[in-house]
Amino acid sequence: MSLAAGGTGQRGATRARGGIVYLVGAGPGDPELITVRGLRCLRQADVVVYDRLVDARLLAEAPPAARRVYAGKSSGRQALRQEEIDALLVRQARAGRVVVRLKGGDPFVFGRGGEEALACAAAGVAWEAVPGVTSAVAVPGLAGIPLTHRGVAASFAVVTGHSAGADRLDWEALARIETLVVLMGAARLGEIAAILASHGKPPETPVAVVENGSRDDERVLTGTLGDIAEIATAAGLGSPATVIVGEVVRLRSALAPAQAVSPDADVVGRLA
Ligand code: SAH
Repeated sequence: MSLAAGGTGQRGATRARGGIVYLVGAGPGDPELITVRGLRCLRQADVVVYDRLVDARLLAEAPPAARRVYAGKSSGRQALRQEEIDALLVRQARAGRVVVRLKGGDPFVFGRGGEEALACAAAGVAWEAVPGVTSAVAVPGLAGIPLTHRGVAASFAVVTGHSAGADRLDWEALARIETLVVLMGAARLGEIAAILASHGKPPETPVAVVENGSRDDERVLTGTLGDIAEIATAAGLGSPATVIVGEVVRLRSALAPAQAVSPDADVVGRLA
């Protein structure tokens, strides 16, 4: 396994005095779900630029002297604008630092990782992507919902629900996909259910909503397209939450995880 071995980064940029930007996926929440490579990068970081959903226990893995910069939202506002984040990454790497841009899930799934990579490439700064475990797949899986299952679903799509009702998504096509995963959709569950129903998805289609997936305070709500919005409101659903629409949700009754069967933390420590 090589970390920063070649140092040329992706897209062939040359590495100036050791500076590099790692776009690292932190995983869905549980700090053990970062990759081994991601953790190695973090442990070598001079600067960590992190988002709101990143667990404090991961930040503690960076060297004590590393600078930690919060780039997420505070009271509804982005602490740093995207252009400011891009400029910060470029500036720090140009100063010869190892910069870890730590993002929830995978950096390239609704994470604006592409924009940051483009900024590095445009500036001639070395960068590398370190993929993460995306919540789109892992959160359902940990809750006992496989996105595909022989005889039940052979396709899935991941969409943002952020602007459901006022977006450019082809909901007619999406309504035909067997398993639909909606990120950033918790606040618009009613709109999402109505749009899918208006495009022919049966109201009795099973739906699950997983709040704080992979964390100690994970909650799973289940219902149907017809009643999930009401169920979520009654339960005071918050964020982050992942919505899963499709027959695979039924598998959860057999696959919902038993309590506390995660591996010994020491084993993970030794691995990394
Ligand atoms: N890049 C991230 C997604 C960023 S969009 C990834 O690959 O996972 C943020 C959305 O992801 C949230 O609104 C929510 O829909 C989902 N999400 C992130 N973490 C989650 C968690 N622990 N539980 C449930 N959903 C989560």
